[in-house]
Amino acid sequence: MTKWVYGFGGGSAEGRSEMRELLGGKGANLAEMSNLGLPVPPGFTITTEVCTAFYDNDRNYPADLNDEVETALKAVENLVGRKFGNVADPLLVSVRSGARASMPGMMDTVLNLGLNDDTVEGLAAVSGDRRFAYDSYRRFIQMYGDVVLGVEHYNFEEILEIHKEDKGYVLDTEMSADDWQEIVEGFKAKVAEELGRPFPQDPREQLWGAIGAVFGSWMNARANTYRRLHNIPASWGTAVNVQAMVFGNMGNECATGVCFSRNPSTGENRFYGEYLINAQGEDVVAGIRTPAPLTKIEREESGSDLLSMEEAMPAVFADLVAVRDKLESHYRDMQDMEFTVESNRLYMLQTRSGKRTAKAALRIAVEMCDDGVISRDDALMRVDPAQLDQMLHPTLDPDAEKQVIGMGLPASPGAASGQIVFSAEVAEDWAHNKGRKVVLVRIETSPEDIAGMHAAEGILTARGGMTSHAAVVARGMGKPCVCGAGAIKIDYRGGTMNAGGVMLKEGDVITIDGGTGEVMLGEVATLKPDLSGDFSQLMEWADGVRRLKVRTNAETPEDAETARGFGAEGIGLCRTEHMFFDPARIISMREMILAETEAGRRVALAKLLPYQRQDFIDLFRIMKGLPVTIRLLDPPLHEFLPHGDNEIAEVAKAADVSESIVRRRLLDLAESNPMLGHRGCRLGISYPEIYEMQARAIFEAAIEVSKAGGDQVIPEIMIPLVVGKKELEILKAAIVKVASEVETEQSAKLTYLVGTMIELPRAALRAGDIAEEAEFFSFGTNDLTQTTFGLSRDDASHFLDTYIAKDIFAGDPFVSLDQEGVGELIALAAERGRKTRPDIKLGICGEHGGDPSSIAFCESQGLDYVSCSPYRVPIARLAAAQAALKK
Ligand code: PEP
Ligand code: MG
Repeated sequence: MTKWVYGFGGGSAEGRSEMRELLGGKGANLAEMSNLGLPVPPGFTITTEVCTAFYDNDRNYPADLNDEVETALKAVENLVGRKFGNVADPLLVSVRSGARASMPGMMDTVLNLGLNDDTVEGLAAVSGDRRFAYDSYRRFIQMYGDVVLGVEHYNFEEILEIHKEDKGYVLDTEMSADDWQEIVEGFKAKVAEELGRPFPQDPREQLWGAIGAVFGSWMNARANTYRRLHNIPASWGTAVNVQAMVFGNMGNECATGVCFSRNPSTGENRFYGEYLINAQGEDVVAGIRTPAPLTKIEREESGSDLLSMEEAMPAVFADLVAVRDKLESHYRDMQDMEFTVESNRLYMLQTRSGKRTAKAALRIAVEMCDDGVISRDDALMRVDPAQLDQMLHPTLDPDAEKQVIGMGLPASPGAASGQIVFSAEVAEDWAHNKGRKVVLVRIETSPEDIAGMHAAEGILTARGGMTSHAAVVARGMGKPCVCGAGAIKIDYRGGTMNAGGVMLKEGDVITIDGGTGEVMLGEVATLKPDLSGDFSQLMEWADGVRRLKVRTNAETPEDAETARGFGAEGIGLCRTEHMFFDPARIISMREMILAETEAGRRVALAKLLPYQRQDFIDLFRIMKGLPVTIRLLDPPLHEFLPHGDNEIAEVAKAADVSESIVRRRLLDLAESNPMLGHRGCRLGISYPEIYEMQARAIFEAAIEVSKAGGDQVIPEIMIPLVVGKKELEILKAAIVKVASEVETEQSAKLTYLVGTMIELPRAALRAGDIAEEAEFFSFGTNDLTQTTFGLSRDDASHFLDTYIAKDIFAGDPFVSLDQEGVGELIALAAERGRKTRPDIKLGICGEHGGDPSSIAFCESQGLDYVSCSPYRVPIARLAAAQAALKK
C-alpha cells in the first residue's frame, strides 16, 4: 500500500532529507531537522505522489488519504498536547506548499488554520491575550480568504485601512482586541458577500480547503510560468506540509526571521539575516514591515536604528547560532533558514540550500573547499554554470558622473540602466515587442510579476528587505535589484515616481546598482567585470578536470580578445560573411555579387582580398597559434544586396553598369526560401572564385603571421552546408590548388586542415563518405536543428511557447540541443566519420556550444571541443568540467 503521509516532530521523523522527490524540499528538510534533534514544531507532509495521483484521477484524492491524515494529525495533537478544533485549547496549524525545487509561483502559506468564532476565544483564554487571538484570527481569514477562497487581498486591506482612518490610528499596533474583533466581523462579511456563503467555521473543512488549494496551485498560471522559466516538469508535483503553529506575534518575547548561514549576496562566511519582534513569518517575506538586522555587526554596518536580535535576545540568538553551525556542517552547504521565537523559545520552520548570487556561489564553493569541508569536485558541482553569466555583467564605472536620487538595499548585484516601467505587463511588452531596455519599478513585487521581472534589465522596489520576494527572485534570475528604497514614492495611477524630489515618469531612464543600493538618474557608464580571485580559482580547477576544449565563435578582433580573456582555446567558428558589412567593403561585395561574369566578379574580389587578409592576420595574431577555424562564405547572397534607390545607384556607379542592370540582377537573385537556397558551399560550387579569394587570404595571412616571428598558424578551413562528399571533393581540390600557388609565390610551406560543417541531416547520414575528404567536422546545430525539425530558426518563436506549454517540446530546441533527434544525427555522424577517419577532429559551433546540458551531451559523444560566443566561454568551461565529473 502506498504511504501518502509522513510525520515529523518530537526528535524523530518518518522522512529524511534524501526524500525530497517524495516529500518536496521543505518536507524533506523538516524531517531531517527533526531527526537531528532540532526544535521543529511537529507536523506531517502529504507527498508529491498525492499531487500526481490527484491530477491523474480528475482531481480526486486517493481513497485512504483521509485516514492517513487523521492518524498523522492525532500524532501531532499528542506531541503538542492540544486538539485540533478543541474550543477550550485549540491546536492551530500552518499549511504550506513545498515542491522538489523551490517555486515562488505557487500558493505558499496559510497560517493559524483551525481558528473560528469559538476556538478564537479558547486561544484568547489560553494565551491570556485577546488582542493576539483576534489579530491571529483576522490574519487567518485574510490569508485563507486570499489564497484558498480567492477573495483578493485588497478587499481586506481596504476594510482595515478604513477602520484605522475612522479611529485615527496610524499603526496596526494601536489596534485593540475589540478593534481586531470588529475587523474579523468585517472580513467575514466581505467573504460572505464575495462568495455567497459564509467563511468556513469547521476546522477540518478549512484544512481540506487549504490542502486542495496547494494542490490546485501546482497548475496555476504563475506556477506554470515559473516552471517553464526554470525547466521544472509538471509531472513532479508538490507536497503539502501541515505543521503545528508557533507564534512569533505573542508579545515582545516573540519574533520571527529569515537567516542565511553565510551572506547570500557576497558569500562572506558571516551569519546573516533579518528578523522582526512580535511578528508572524509572512511579515518578513512580504516586505510589509522592514525588518531589523540579525547581528550586531550587521546593524552597525547598515546604520540601522533597530536593535539586532543579537542584542535584543542574546540567549535565543546563541541558540540560533548553534543551529546555524549544526545545519551548515550537516548539509555542507550554505543554508537559508526560517525561524520563529515563541516566548523566548526558538523553533525552526525551514532550512534549505540558500539561493545565492554567482559571486557568493563562487566564494562559498572555493572557501568551503579550502577549509576542507567539501572536495574540489564538489566545489565545481556547486556552481551553476549558467549563473556565471551574472559575474560577467558590468558594474558601475567608479569614475563616471552620477546623480544619486535614491537609496535602497543592495539586493542583487550588477548595474542596470533602462526606462522606468511600473507594471510587469508593460515591462514584458516594451522589452519583447519594442526591444527596449526597462527597469521594473514596483512598490513591492509578487509572484504575478515574474515574467515582467524576467523581461526587465533590473528591478527597483520601494518596500521590502533583502529576503523580500523581489530580492529572492532577482538573485535567482541574476538581475540587478535594489529593494526597500523607502524614500521613493511611486504613484501607479499617475505613472510617476518621486525620488528625492526628482519627478520621473514612465519611460524616463534610470540606473540602479544592485551592489550598493544606489538609484541614479539617466544612464551611468559601466565597467567590465573583474574575473580574478574566486572566479579564476574555480576556472582553474575546472580546466584541471575537463576533457572538452572550449573555443569561441568570433570574427572581430574585439570578440576574439574578449574570448581569450575568458579562456577560449581557439576559434571554432569565424563567420566570414560578417566581415563584409563594413561600409568600406560592402560596395565591393555588392559589385561582386551583381557582376554577371566571372571576370567581373574577380575584379571585385581583388578589391576585397586585402581587407580579408588583414582580418585573418588580426585573428591569427590574437590567437597566438591556437586553432582558428574559418568558415567560407555561407549566407544567401541577397543578404548583401542593396536596398532602396540610393544604394542601387551607388553600386551601379561602382560597377560601372546601369541601374536597370542592377535591378534585373536583383530580381534574378530573389529566392522564396533563401535559407534552403543558394547559400553555403552552393555559392562556392557556382562561383569558385569567391572561395579561392578567401582561401588565398587565409594562406597569405598565415604565412605573414608565421614569418613575422609569430606562432605557427595552422588554419582550419571549413566548408558550410555540404550534403555529401562530392561538393567537398571539388572545393577541397580548389583550396589545395590555391595553397600550392601561395606556397610557390611565397616560397613557404603551409600546414592546414580542410573540413566541413555537418548541419544538414543528409550530411550527417553521409558522414562516412564525407570523412574521406574532411579532416574535421563541426556540427552546425543551428541549421541542423532547423532542418531536422523543418522549423525555421528565424520564425519558430511565434509558436514555440505553445509547443512548450503543451509539453510537445521540453524546451526551445534552438537553445538546448534536442538530444533524441538532432543528437542522434550527431551521434551517428560522429560514429560514421570516425569509422572512416579514426582521428577526425569533432566539434560543435551552433548556439548549443554554450548551453550546459548540450555540452554534457557533447561530452557523452566524446567530441573534441565546443565553440560558443565569447561571453559563454566561462560557462562552457565549467559545464565541460561538470560533464566530465558526472561521467
Ligand atoms: C549553425 O548552423 O549551427 C552554424 C553555426 O552556422 P550559422 O549559425 O552561421 O548558420
Ligand atoms: Mg549554419
